[in-house]
Amino acid sequence: MHCPKCKNPISPLKVWLITRWSPLRCDHCGASLTRSIDRQFFIMAVLMFAGIFLFIQTPLFLVVWIIVVMLIDAYTVQLVLDQERPQ
Ligand SMILES: [Zn+2]
Repeated sequence: MHCPKCKNPISPLKVWLITRWSPLRCDHCGASLTRSIDRQFFIMAVLMFAGIFLFIQTPLFLVVWIIVVMLIDAYTVQLVLDQERPQ
């Protein structure tokens, strides 16, 4: 995962800190970054809901599923510059 502005590498695990209201800051150039709402995001959302639906009776599998989906998400997400905040 790289900053789209300066190409500085960013730890994939930091994607979990991004919310709708709190963007990620690039350590190098200070740009505020957010995740792009694209096909990848859509697939991850479908996987997450499918897992909840399938494993609701087995909480252990549900927890494992959520962790796996979050890891896949962290390594496939696309970062974009946050348009709502000044850079
Ligand atoms: Zn940067």
